[in-house]
Amino acid sequence: MELIVGAVILLAGILIGRFLPGLGRPRQSALAEVKPLCGCGHASSFHEERGRCHALNEVARWDGGRWAGIESVPCNCRKYTGPEPLPAFYAPELTE
Ligand SMILES: [Zn+2]
Ligand SMILES: [Zn+2]
Repeated sequence: MELIVGAVILLAGILIGRFLPGLGRPRQSALAEVKPLCGCGHASSFHEERGRCHALNEVARWDGGRWAGIESVPCNCRKYTGPEPLPAFYAPELTE
């Protein structure tokens, strides 16, 4: 019986944690949230100067209709299409 109560409390804790992600959990860094991503899903740092993407994609490999594992293949993105990565949010103009 106590085990069931414990399980219910644990489950409730998990659910609360899921619905209120800011509670009892360290907040994700704001920087990670605003990281500029290309259309291929990779950050600008993976791309050559406004060009090809060097990141690897994990793709499912099928062998004659049978699951043959995960394979890492180079991203086929040829051009960075995401937002311009900003080194700072604003550059104050000190003209005075
Ligand atoms: Zn890309
Ligand atoms: Zn990519």
